[in-house]
Amino acid sequence: MPIDYISDYRDPKLIAALSAQISLEATRALNIMEICGGHTHTIIKYGLPQLLPPQIKFIHGPGCPVCVIPKERIDHATTLAARKDVILCALGDMIRAPGSKLSLQQARAEGADVRALYSPLEALKIATENPDKKTIFFAIGFETTTPMTASLIERAINGGVKNLLFHINHILAPPPVCAIMDDGAAIDAFLGPSHVSVIAGSDVFLPIVERYKTPVVISGFEPIDALESVLMIVRQFNDGRREVENQYSRAVTRSGNQTAKTLIDRYFTLRDTFRWRGLGDIPFSALRLREQYAHIDAEQIFADYLPNEPIDDHKLCLCAEILKGRAKPTDCKVFGKACTPNSPFGSCMVSGEGACATYYRYAKTF
Ligand code: SF4
Repeated sequence: MPIDYISDYRDPKLIAALSAQISLEATRALNIMEICGGHTHTIIKYGLPQLLPPQIKFIHGPGCPVCVIPKERIDHATTLAARKDVILCALGDMIRAPGSKLSLQQARAEGADVRALYSPLEALKIATENPDKKTIFFAIGFETTTPMTASLIERAINGGVKNLLFHINHILAPPPVCAIMDDGAAIDAFLGPSHVSVIAGSDVFLPIVERYKTPVVISGFEPIDALESVLMIVRQFNDGRREVENQYSRAVTRSGNQTAKTLIDRYFTLRDTFRWRGLGDIPFSALRLREQYAHIDAEQIFADYLPNEPIDDHKLCLCAEILKGRAKPTDCKVFGKACTPNSPFGSCMVSGEGACATYYRYAKTF
């Protein structure tokens, strides 16, 4: 019988068997950080902490692109959107993330032309249909979504579309992990993001294992994937091993997707530094357009208009501590009270991958 990639990976009998096996084999306390907010979602939605022995703890990590984008870059987007000659396009949840004064959604309510896209390619159609305006695609995301932006750039260039510009906020998964570890986090092992690894390859996490002696297991996003990955981590400790292992071998290879990596390399290069919400400036942690594409780089074209001073989060907001793995959403005094998905104080309450939004939605399961 063919595998059903959804129901078979949520099979309650298999979940119970894996949970029992982990309880049997786990011999020591382990703090396991899931790098990606998608894993946080799976872990909380399926109540995995309750299925594991108490010595296994999940620590939520920084891998939600909406959560880690700093307020000043959202201010870039709202500043650009306020121009009469601009149509500002962004994907999904991004338009709800709060800047220092407004989110893009609020800017739209005040009259700005802000479009929420399901696919980056919609920006090409919007630009083509509005030749008298500058359409700006506010691009965010880890290695997973960068190829889509690169593909959009390529299509715009090949199609002679000159009024499509880009504000690039593409970031890399390993650098914030190093920043958190260098800051003294007590993490024993990591669940690695499988979607990032499909593009970048599992080997991008090798330096983390070598530097911090922490196993990284690349994990799929279904509950069976996450539990099997925890078992693989437990076995690494029991065997005295510290390795990058690949649980998600159905899609991830060591070297990743070379076609996508070539496309990314054609248009992007490393930034010297990039400011992350809660984590501060991290060297070589993000991408920018190559210099030959300065003519489509909204950040360069409108540099004189764009604010660049760091802006602190709301003083009651614990997003910074949550993103560093030092607090849980329920530690925040305003969680579920003043701060809800309908009126988020911080970015972690916005995205479906944000730890606060995930806890708010599935609170009944823990
Ligand atoms: S509940 Fe709201 S205010 Fe508190 S940490 Fe989360 S996003 Fe910030």
